[in-house]
Amino acid sequence: MIIAGAGLGGLTLAHGLRAQGIDVAVYERDAHPGARPQGYRVQLDEPGLTNLQYCLPAPLFELCLSTAGAPPARVSVRNRHLDILADKAAAQPPGVVGPHAFNRPTLRQIMLLGLGDQVHYGAQLTDCQHNADGTVTARFADGRTASGDLLVGADGVNSAVRRLLLPDAQVEDAGLRLVYGRIPLRGSTRAGLPGWVFDSIFTVVTGGPGQPHLGLGPVEFRRRPDQCGLAPVGDYIACMVGAPVSHPALPTFEELRALTPAALRDLALRLMGEDWHEDVHRLLAHWDTDSLFPLRISTAAPVPPWEPGPVTLIGDAIHAMSPVLAMGANTAIRDAGELTRSLTGTRGTAESLTQAVRGYENRMRDYAFSIVADSRQTGQQRVGQR
Ligand SMILES: Cc1cc2nc3c(=O)[nH]c(=O)nc-3n(C[C@H](O)[C@H](O)[C@H](O)COP(=O)(O)OP(=O)(O)OC[C@H]3O[C@@H](n4cnc5c(N)ncnc54)[C@H](O)[C@@H]3O)c2cc1C
Repeated sequence: MIIAGAGLGGLTLAHGLRAQGIDVAVYERDAHPGARPQGYRVQLDEPGLTNLQYCLPAPLFELCLSTAGAPPARVSVRNRHLDILADKAAAQPPGVVGPHAFNRPTLRQIMLLGLGDQVHYGAQLTDCQHNADGTVTARFADGRTASGDLLVGADGVNSAVRRLLLPDAQVEDAGLRLVYGRIPLRGSTRAGLPGWVFDSIFTVVTGGPGQPHLGLGPVEFRRRPDQCGLAPVGDYIACMVGAPVSHPALPTFEELRALTPAALRDLALRLMGEDWHEDVHRLLAHWDTDSLFPLRISTAAPVPPWEPGPVTLIGDAIHAMSPVLAMGANTAIRDAGELTRSLTGTRGTAESLTQAVRGYENRMRDYAFSIVADSRQTGQQRVGQR
């Protein structure tokens, strides 16, 4: 099996297939694992954690949990004066691990353990070709090729595999821009910050319709990653300021991308007007300027069923969604689990492989596009998504 993309979805799938004794090779565009910043926090609950547990070797899953934080399992929405508008406890079925806040680079570093030379770097997929014997050949920008029974596009929101397989599939601008960064919790910083930030796994402070919002998610490690032989990182709060594109103070995304971190910070502080609660300004005063970068949020349009074959898609490559429900990575990891289950026991004919892919794709389209729609609806209500 060939997987294009070593993100959270592709790496989970590689572990899942490997555990079933299926030969797998991952081809990643980046030149090496640390070539690109991987962002900050990612929250996994259901269905991410159950499927991560299914696919990963038990010691790696335990390492993921022990190096994550487990803040109170509730999501809060407040207005700019910090009155609570909604306070939702995350559902926690018995026997299921509760939501965890992971540091994304740490999670990815753990997922790469055990895959060794099965991950090939500097391999940007550019084309693929169906062969007469039912197999598929992937082509990479540097001239490499790889052939297998199935090519899985796990190559994210700008997926090259999706463009080849489903050229009409649309990914739309969700009409939201974010300035994303971290508040490091060094020394006495935590004690000086408002306690409500630590009462929820994620808090949204909303300015109201058409107005900016602030998102805050603490990541406090139960065990520091460096104590487990992983890259060092200290506790922090992931902190983002977002606004709908219609906001008059927001430049175009190209202009946003050209801003220095200091200019991004100034812009975000201007967006949070003086009438926002003083706690908000107190928090933003601790924002690490060098950590800031801009983001444009995309969302996939539903795709009608297509004829299954030796190429399929998982994760953002097929169902990118806005992050308001924190379900994108959860769903990418669920895809990896679902596809692993479908493929288990089908190592025979091309027909049985096609049946397995058909089963996965039918289920995935149902659950994933309903979450994309829920994310869009919540995004429209809370943060001015289109
Ligand atoms: C601000 C923000 C916060 C979020 N928070 C959460 C959260 O808390 N919980 C949650 O569940 N989701 C969250 N998400 C969504 C989540 O980040 C994504 O849904 C998830 O990363 C998708 O994983 P993936 O493996 O499908 O794609 P990606 O993580 O994008 O990985 C794709 C990989 O493919 C590689 N690649 C790209 N093109 C090629 C190519 N042509 N050939 C080979 N390799 C290629 C890329 O380099 C990358 O490594 C958030 C998103 C944002 C923007």
